[in-house]
Amino acid sequence: MPDAHDLLNSDEAGLRQLVESLGQPAYRARQIWRQLYQRGEVDPLAMSDLPSEFRQQLARASLTPEPPLEIQTSDDGSTSKALIPLDDGEMIETVLIRSAPRDTVCLSSQAGCAMGCVFCATGLQGLRRQLTTGEIMRQAILARGWAREEGRELTHVVFMGMGEPLANYASVSEAIARLTDAEAFGMSPRRITVSTVGVPAGIRRLAADHPRVNLAVSLHAPDVKLRRELVPVPGASLDDILSAVREHNRITGGRVTFEYVLLQGVNDSRAQARRLADRIKGLRTHVNLIPLNPSPGVVGERPSRRATLRFQQILQECGIPATVRVEQGRDIAAACGQLRGDRVRPTA
Ligand code: SAH
Ligand code: SF4
Repeated sequence: MPDAHDLLNSDEAGLRQLVESLGQPAYRARQIWRQLYQRGEVDPLAMSDLPSEFRQQLARASLTPEPPLEIQTSDDGSTSKALIPLDDGEMIETVLIRSAPRDTVCLSSQAGCAMGCVFCATGLQGLRRQLTTGEIMRQAILARGWAREEGRELTHVVFMGMGEPLANYASVSEAIARLTDAEAFGMSPRRITVSTVGVPAGIRRLAADHPRVNLAVSLHAPDVKLRRELVPVPGASLDDILSAVREHNRITGGRVTFEYVLLQGVNDSRAQARRLADRIKGLRTHVNLIPLNPSPGVVGERPSRRATLRFQQILQECGIPATVRVEQGRDIAAACGQLRGDRVRPTA
């Protein structure tokens, strides 16, 4: 028997080949595409505009993606997190953040991550493997389905879950293409954000391929030495990252966000705020400060609210727009840096 077909990992040409091999006209491929990405229907038996014998044929020929193993919702109802098993037993997590009028899905791009940021739960496990485009789209379909069940629509997508998206460029780029395809998710690229630890070649490719997609770059330190301590496997120097950001500014005409996770007594001093401002001056940018979210096994402490606001104020006084990220879902370990892809329960 031939291998089962993975519908979410096919492009339209692949779907055309499949439907033709099953003796159906080519236009059925487009119908399946719309079912998958407009309706979010991943079960061929439920693809209502296909003839019923063909639905059964298609179901026999294709894989059905695994449902989530577990779904948790925060006490305030704002955040839900799914633990999703992949077909080889790896686990990933996906988060839906409800913040009216926005509904944002936070997507994982890799199982684990190679970068080893000392404060990040995902970094603890190292890179397990890359996700396929289908595995990324499955997460988006799932989260949009929850929003729709609640009478809303998914409005934003952020690649801020597990993994480093620009270290899995091909799958992430193809997922962005499906998210923005009018025949698929039909989202504006302006509502999509890719967050990267800083992969200069990836930043340049993203600027060329998806110039309207937002870019966020995780900086965390104003100098090389401290950055190396916090991001042990950066693969690129601070200078290289900043020059890629400059080029991104130039190619896209847009603004880049710098993310800066604040760790008490490590990178949150007044002097460091000034040095950071100095370092990024002249770029079209905005700094998003993220007070550390603690997680079992990771390094660092959350700074006080006062220290956070002081850091923000210094940046602003130096002419750098700065905001503090509003966190949701800490009680279910769904906030930034808390995704680990296993069933470790939050301690609090
Ligand atoms: N790998 C990418 C995207 C995933 S992480 C990146 O690093 O940018 C998304 C954001 O969460 C990054 O800015 C990351 O630095 C931040 N983050 C990681 N661990 C965190 C933690 N424990 N507390 C707060 N933010 C964290
Ligand atoms: Fe990887 Fe981002 Fe976590 Fe660093 S913060 S380990 S790059 S997922």
